[in-house]
Amino acid sequence: MTSSITSKASLMKTKPAKPKTVPLKEYREKRNFDVTAEPKGARSPSKPQSDLLYVIQKHRASQLHYDFRLEWHGVLLSWAVPKGPSLDPSVKRLATPVEDHPLEYGSFEGAIPEGEYGGGTVMLWDRGTWVAEVPDVDEALEKGDLKFTLRGKKLRGSWVLVRTKLGYGGSKKPQWLLIKHRDRYASSEDILVDEPRSVLTNRLLAEIARDEGGDVAKAAKGDPAKVAARR
Ligand code: MN
Repeated sequence: MTSSITSKASLMKTKPAKPKTVPLKEYREKRNFDVTAEPKGARSPSKPQSDLLYVIQKHRASQLHYDFRLEWHGVLLSWAVPKGPSLDPSVKRLATPVEDHPLEYGSFEGAIPEGEYGGGTVMLWDRGTWVAEVPDVDEALEKGDLKFTLRGKKLRGSWVLVRTKLGYGGSKKPQWLLIKHRDRYASSEDILVDEPRSVLTNRLLAEIARDEGGDVAKAAKGDPAKVAARR
C-alpha cells in the first residue's frame, strides 16, 4: 500500500502547495468583525487561472500605502507598497508582505473605524486580472521572483515582484520590490498623481471618508494636492 502511494506521489509533475496553517487565520485574528465592515471571508471555489483577481487598494491608515493583492489558492496574497506602483522600469518600489486577505476583500472600499486594525479610508484604486509569466507560481513565490502580467484599468503589462536579500534598505527581514518591466505600458507618467480616483466609484479618498463616516481631513492628506476634474 505504502509503496503505491509513494510511487504515485513521485509521478506528480508539480509539487503540492505548501500547507498553510488555517487560511485567513492571521487576517481574522487582527480584526473585530462586529466593528469593521471589512469582509470576514468565506471559502471560495477554485476558478480558471485566466480569471485570477488583481487588486490595488489605496489605504490611508496611520501611513498612506497601496495594498497590492494577487489571487492565489483562493485568497489574496498581499503586499503593502508605501510609495505605490511606478510605471517607470528604473524605479523599484518596496513591497512588504502582509497577511493573506479573503477574495471578497477585492470588492471592499470604505472606512475602517479609527482605533481598529488598519483604521482609516480604503479606496479600490485598481482592479482587474493577472496572469503568471512563470510555469510554477508556488515555486516562483518560494524563490522570491514572480513575473506576471497585469490586466487592470490603470496598471497593465509585465511586472515582477522580487524578494530582497536580508538587510536591504536597513530592514531586518526580507522585503520585496515591485518593478515594472520594459514594454509598451512602461512610462514616466506619475500614475498615482494622474489617476488618484477609485476605479469602482470614481471617488477620492476624502469623498469616500465623507460618504462612509470616516475621518475626512485625514483621508484628504492621501489625495494629491491638485486633482483634475472628475472625468
Ligand atoms: Mn493596508
